[in-house]
Amino acid sequence: MKIAIDGPSGAGKSFLAKQIASRLGIVYVDTGALYRTVGLAVKRADIDPRDTASVIRLLPEIEVELTYIDGMQCVLLSGENVGDKIRTPEMSMYASLVSAIPEVRKFLFNTQRSIAEKNSVVMDGRDIGTVILPDADVKIFLTASNEARAHRRYLELKEKGIETTPEKVLEEMIERDRNDSTRDVAPAVAAPDAVLLDNSHLDGEGTVLRALEIISEKLG
Ligand code: C5P
Repeated sequence: MKIAIDGPSGAGKSFLAKQIASRLGIVYVDTGALYRTVGLAVKRADIDPRDTASVIRLLPEIEVELTYIDGMQCVLLSGENVGDKIRTPEMSMYASLVSAIPEVRKFLFNTQRSIAEKNSVVMDGRDIGTVILPDADVKIFLTASNEARAHRRYLELKEKGIETTPEKVLEEMIERDRNDSTRDVAPAVAAPDAVLLDNSHLDGEGTVLRALEIISEKLG
């Protein structure tokens, strides 16, 4: 079984995908973590993420691997578990900038494909239904209003102890969504056969129940 969940930042894709994975007993793959990890490597190499040539030159020098420890996805950057180092607003922006480079997307393609070939998966990202799993059994495009998404992201960052303001979160989110949805390669758009799920007025459990309905309708 292959389930694709795409959509803009802060829509709750990772919460939903984790819940689906545990309720259906399948593997959860957070693909954004891979782009964030390339972003971290770029930052550590002191490269400007807009400097495409330098980012491309860095790729053969790094290794990005997906692994599971106690059922939790971990990303290894040249053997080091990056943990929460990729979860800062700065890494969100680095990820968004490097993900617009076609060579970066190619670099991460096989890692994503091979895990889906070997397992039943629910993957969340921006191009899962369009590029990574165009043949997915179920495709959901999860979205919500800007205000709802920014509010959720703000609470998430606050809980992690990251200093920010709701206004800054909204501003950065709009910029990142614009980068992601207007880039030339694999723009973050809904696949033509994706089911749109707007959860502006749903809580987490309401979103999960609606998604499970969509999945069982699709799978018959
Ligand atoms: O999902 P998350 O917020 O962790 O993703 C970080 C960034 O990685 C996104 O803003 C997007 O630019 C990029 N990304 C992507 N394709 C994916 C997943 C994430 O381009 N499949």
